[in-house]
Amino acid sequence: MKVDILTLFPEMFPGYLNRSMLQRAQNAGFLQVKLHNIRDYARGKHRVTDEAPYGGGGGMVLKPQPLFAAVESVLDGEDIAFKSIPVILLTPQGRTFSQDIAEELAGEERLVLICGRYEGVDERVREHLATDEISIGDYVLTGGELAAMVIVDAVTRQIPGVLGAEGAAERDSYATGLLEGPQYTRPEVFRGWAVPEVLLSGHAARIEDWKRQQALRRTWRRRPELLLKTSLSEEDKRFLDTLTPEDVLKAGNEDVPGG
Ligand code: SAM
Repeated sequence: MKVDILTLFPEMFPGYLNRSMLQRAQNAGFLQVKLHNIRDYARGKHRVTDEAPYGGGGGMVLKPQPLFAAVESVLDGEDIAFKSIPVILLTPQGRTFSQDIAEELAGEERLVLICGRYEGVDERVREHLATDEISIGDYVLTGGELAAMVIVDAVTRQIPGVLGAEGAAERDSYATGLLEGPQYTRPEVFRGWAVPEVLLSGHAARIEDWKRQQALRRTWRRRPELLLKTSLSEEDKRFLDTLTPEDVLKAGNEDVPGG
């Protein structure tokens, strides 16, 4: 996948993108990220990228000219005319990013991500240049750069082959439709807290059953609405039937951080 990121701050990206899974994905040819400084596309001696908003209101707004010029330079005319490549405007007003959207975008060969700044971006960019608008959550960040990194990370994990067998994403929270259950590593006992015995039993089928039940229990406690959207086996349903609201109280909310 090729990702073009338009930003006023390209220097913010390498520290995150050139490490760990994202670095391996790039080295292995699964991912190619190109950073484009929006300022390079601004006209005039001072390469002005932002101006005060018409109608007042304070702050600055990113001008349309450098953004149109940047996208037109990065994509060829046909891509733009036929809107064949997603040009995604990062904005707190867009559709909320999710695992489903990450999977959807992982099917694309190419993405263009536009990082806004200041008070935002001239509306004509949204109307006539962007093909999609994505928010990473209901809060306002200072710029779209973190949102772009979040999207590149989550989407790259979904590209077949990137994680390899060991770190496969199938068990991840949301990929199964459930939250993932608890994980443990060495030592067996830490400060008196022991790893559940079943995980040390070496009995593969029992371990699988336990993990599935833990994922069901955790989802039921924390995000019950997810259970309505995922497919459940008869065994899953029987297990869920054994859980009662009192269970949550009785268990002292051990599933809640700090509980
Ligand atoms: N005034 C804008 C509004 O109320 O919608 C917010 C502008 S914000 C300070 C500057 C830029 O940060 C936005 O143009 C966008 O690119 C980015 N941004 C902020 N919050 C975001 C979010 N939740 N998801 C994606 N991008 C975000």
